[in-house]
Amino acid sequence: MQIDLPPEDDPRREKVRAWLEEHPNPTGQQLAEAGYVVPHWPAPWGLDADPELQLIIDDELRRAAVSRPTNPIGIGHCGPVLVVHASDEQRKRFLPPMLSGEEMWCQLFSEPGAGSDLANLSTRAVRDGDVYVINGQKIWTSLAQVAKFGILIARTDTDVSKHAGISYFIIPMDLPGIEIRPIRNMIGGAEDAGFNEVFFTDVQIPTENLIGELNNGWAMAKQTLANERVSLSKGGVQWGYGPTARDLVPLAQSLGDRIGAVERQRIVEAYIEGEILRFHHLRQVSAAVNKTPGPDASLRKALNDPHGKRVFNLAKDLMGANGMLADPEGFDVWSRGFLFSPALTVGGGTSEVLRNVIAERILGLPHDVDVEQGKTWAETRGGAVTTP
Ligand SMILES: Cc1cc2nc3c(=O)[nH]c(=O)nc-3n(C[C@H](O)[C@H](O)[C@H](O)COP(=O)(O)OP(=O)(O)OC[C@H]3O[C@@H](n4cnc5c(N)ncnc54)[C@H](O)[C@@H]3O)c2cc1C
Repeated sequence: MQIDLPPEDDPRREKVRAWLEEHPNPTGQQLAEAGYVVPHWPAPWGLDADPELQLIIDDELRRAAVSRPTNPIGIGHCGPVLVVHASDEQRKRFLPPMLSGEEMWCQLFSEPGAGSDLANLSTRAVRDGDVYVINGQKIWTSLAQVAKFGILIARTDTDVSKHAGISYFIIPMDLPGIEIRPIRNMIGGAEDAGFNEVFFTDVQIPTENLIGELNNGWAMAKQTLANERVSLSKGGVQWGYGPTARDLVPLAQSLGDRIGAVERQRIVEAYIEGEILRFHHLRQVSAAVNKTPGPDASLRKALNDPHGKRVFNLAKDLMGANGMLADPEGFDVWSRGFLFSPALTVGGGTSEVLRNVIAERILGLPHDVDVEQGKTWAETRGGAVTTP
């Protein structure tokens, strides 16, 4: 694909600019209705945009300092799954307020006994008339404390192989029987860190909240994770958000002669990595446009997360004594990113699991579980079992 963006007088740019002139401070709803929140999605949610148009829109919104609504899990992870698998009625009800940012979403996948080995989940959904009754526990649920809805995967059949008995539901987060307990981490308050334990006790979800077919949830869960890996490895080094290696340059320049030879070299290396990842991101825009995020997303995430850690560590070193402060003025983006950075190689698929995906799905190497011999990862190495 062509990497340079189309010229300033490209008619597609002019169209976006004209819209921005009419809507100088667009609301989330206006952006969603114009298709500018997810240009690569099909109409009416997006514009069926090709990679160039998507990049043009991104570019013009950035220049006009217009931010898209923030709803990372809804828009980035599960929304594309709903576009394909939800009914018309479900799409009309859930997608517009998701895209406008009015209704925040969370992802209820991980459990204490099911992280990398997600299919090992034990939260149950049992049909009782026109509801499913949910019992179980989820953990590490980002944004559960503010979410209006969650995507829940739960076991609906215990008599089949573990991947075959899982279903995919939309669950309103204010139903009776749901208890959300915040988990604090070293960034600070639970509101900042934003993840939680979620307990379900006899929670009743209407049967119409099932997405797709019963017991077909694993395929949709895998698509959600693939979308997540695309979403978490966009431009910034903090799971697609935050600064980039390029932003280290003014920080380093501000130090003038105080910068040592070793730091110079680390900055150059981080910059080179950042540029390679930037080009890889441009390729991925095209994968998202084709709506087939595959193992390539794991490749970028496997590169991006350790890169993010290196960038934040380097920034912390460059900050010198200021790096000792909790929220040093002018540097807090680096300071908070540094505290978050250990999570980068865990959430959304650990680095080890991503390497398994690359080995098996890109390189065609044998599966890390010796299925034929009936051995599991847990049996051979004492940990989790299979990779999603
Ligand atoms: C900041 C953050 C936000 C998160 N948000 C959410 C969320 O919103 N919703 C949600 O559902 N989950 C969320 N998670 C959870 C995340 O998806 C899991 O932490 C992740 O999948 C790993 O699972 P685990 O923590 O159970 O670790 P485990 O799976 O127990 O892994 C432990 C260690 O064993 C290694 N390992 C496991 N299996 C293999 C294997 N087959 N081969 C080699 N090594 C292996 C892992 O790499 C890791 O080092 C979040 C996590 C973080 C850090």
